[in-house]
Amino acid sequence: MLKILRKIVQEVSTAADLDAVLTIIVSRVQRAMATHVCSVFLFDAVTQRYVLRATQGLNPQAVGQVSLAENEGVVGLVAKRAEPINLQDASSHPAFYFLDTTGEEQFHSFLGVPIIHQRRVLGVLVVQQQEKRRFDESEEAFLVTLSAQLAGIIAHAHATGSVQTQLDANQRPVQQDLRYEGVAAAPGVAIGRVVVMSLPADLDTVPDKEVKDLAAELESFAKALEAVREEVRQVADNLASRLSKDEQALFDVYLRMLDDQALAQEVIARIHAGNWAQGSLREVIDEHVRAFTAMEDPYLSERATDIRDLGSRILSHLQEAGPAQITDFPDHAILLADELTPAMLGLAPENKLAGLVSVSGSGNSHAAILARSMGIPTVMGVVDLPYRRLNGREVVVDGYNGRLYVNPSDELLQAYGRILNDEKAMATELQALHDLPAITTDGYRLPLWVNTGLAADVARSLERGAEGIGLYRTEIPFMIRESFPSEQEQLESYRKQLEAFAPLPVTMRTLDIGGDKALPYFPIDEENPSLGWRGIRITLDHPEIFMVQVRAMLRASVGLNNLRIMLPMVTSVHEVEEAKRQIDRACAELREEGYDVHAPPVGVMIEVPAAVYQARRFARMVDFISVGSNDLTQYLLAVDRNNPRVAGLYAPYHPAVLKALDFIAHEAHKERKHVSICGEIAADPGGALLLMAMGYDVLSVNANNLPRVKCAIRGVSLEEARHLLLKVRMMHDAEEIHQTLRQALRAFGLNQLTRPAIPERE
Ligand code: PEP
Ligand code: MG
Repeated sequence: MLKILRKIVQEVSTAADLDAVLTIIVSRVQRAMATHVCSVFLFDAVTQRYVLRATQGLNPQAVGQVSLAENEGVVGLVAKRAEPINLQDASSHPAFYFLDTTGEEQFHSFLGVPIIHQRRVLGVLVVQQQEKRRFDESEEAFLVTLSAQLAGIIAHAHATGSVQTQLDANQRPVQQDLRYEGVAAAPGVAIGRVVVMSLPADLDTVPDKEVKDLAAELESFAKALEAVREEVRQVADNLASRLSKDEQALFDVYLRMLDDQALAQEVIARIHAGNWAQGSLREVIDEHVRAFTAMEDPYLSERATDIRDLGSRILSHLQEAGPAQITDFPDHAILLADELTPAMLGLAPENKLAGLVSVSGSGNSHAAILARSMGIPTVMGVVDLPYRRLNGREVVVDGYNGRLYVNPSDELLQAYGRILNDEKAMATELQALHDLPAITTDGYRLPLWVNTGLAADVARSLERGAEGIGLYRTEIPFMIRESFPSEQEQLESYRKQLEAFAPLPVTMRTLDIGGDKALPYFPIDEENPSLGWRGIRITLDHPEIFMVQVRAMLRASVGLNNLRIMLPMVTSVHEVEEAKRQIDRACAELREEGYDVHAPPVGVMIEVPAAVYQARRFARMVDFISVGSNDLTQYLLAVDRNNPRVAGLYAPYHPAVLKALDFIAHEAHKERKHVSICGEIAADPGGALLLMAMGYDVLSVNANNLPRVKCAIRGVSLEEARHLLLKVRMMHDAEEIHQTLRQALRAFGLNQLTRPAIPERE
């Protein structure tokens, strides 16, 4: 059964569109279960009914014609209860509703299972049989398992279909305000046109684009094809003496595929039809891969991998020859990617970037953190978005609610336009706070520092009135390069940060790679990267990388002496001892070399539960403590910060997280050590008030949110913030705490710091 299940899922996942998906499902399930009928009913949001969308066994004329409301028939009951119903004789069930024209009167036994995606019932999968019998447990288990696996594919195909059919014959939009749900990753609203950014040599992420210059497009395809032919010939020649006959034959297969007129001709035909070479190539390769995968013969089905490989090679040549993606950026561009990476943000022209959307990732992925610091409205984890079809489309990015609207109506544009205007007015109001300190109404002064990473962050931070850098994510510049930077290169970029802020303190974190922060030239492939080789674990295993970085930091600070060094992802005392030993050694070496190096304050980040319980011990060993609440939340709640499926469970205001934050501040203060926090909770006005009340000495926030946090602090007394903390400490539920903070901000007259009212529509 498992084999059949896998095969069906594989075939369905490569189907071209929703109709093909459903046709495959009904025919394969009917065959696999040897039933007389298999049908799929899908929910239609407009009519609010479950419509028969595909069938094997019922009257095909009824497809698209018959439907049931949620309170009609056994199908409606399956949907309503969201659980399987298995009946020996459906017609004798009280909920039975006879569907005329389907010819179902001859079938008695009925098994219906709901198709559920992200807690929503998308439809019902039904099998029926003539004789009166209950389907047995293994049949029921098979259908339930299959339905659970297919739900995501059906949802995605459905979403793709909606986008495709939204232009009428005159290219006028038919369906407007198509809404896609994701995770709110950076607040704000953006209206603009989509630019899809693909990953290099990744066929799956290539978007469709209109051909602008047909001749050029055809020529670049011909050149790419020839280049790959040549490449394969050369590799075959070079390896000829070392390969067996069988292995050599593989190269012949490759060459035959490339010479095969069919493949090239198909791509050329699609280019003529209007899709650019890269998009046409993707379509053709996908179709061939689908065809090969479906073949029973294992040798032939294996050939799908070869086709894919050839496709990627041709794509690499097309991408090398084609224009750099960056030149394609229109004004108000909405950058959309399958997986938005910090490197993409570094490459995009910031003045043209209005919004960001990512199919994968979540609100605390590093790309999202950078987006917040740049102040670019962002939605992540829009898992059902058919992004490849959206290049050039007008969209609205609602970064407050994590929504994307494709093809917005005038009415929607006006509603969001009003929010944009309010945001501008708010920014002007906050700008007036620039030279004022973050001081409460009863005179308590809380320093506000800033988190940096991108080159532009320094200017942005100074503009917003930052009083120091609490976290410089040194890995960000490492990520937009092709090899590790040298000591001299690092020194130059660190010097810029130190000089710009001197004499104010600059806290540089040693390289924190791993997790969702990959270096293209230092790949780490792990099953469970968040629990793997990350942060200090890597740098202690590679002292040569660590030493070069620390030396560069120390040299950059000569004469300025405003450097602080911070260690990420620390779990054990010996890691701190080891890292400190190396920092001391770097200082000694540099002094020997004649540099006037001052030993900098060294601190640790509290990011994992083990560190929470050793906070006091760490505080004794170092000069300062800084809490990385983004990771701490992930590890305390066991919720991957990058996974959109569990984004709803990532709760910075979870009572357990707040308790830990409270505890750390107290423990550090017992040792009279300075304690700051640089996680995103500090950048939320409500969170900032709680942290101030807990006694955090410094909040380090993203530059974009700094004025909002300052505004919150200036709007309350320390007394009031402490009162709020007392109230929140009694609560057990993250959402209740969140709501309480919003209400408190309103009560303090800080309504403007809560989210604006967003237009509601289905
Ligand atoms: C954190 O984990 O809170 C933090 C500040 O570090 P990063 O977000 O870079 O992991
Ligand atoms: Mg962290």
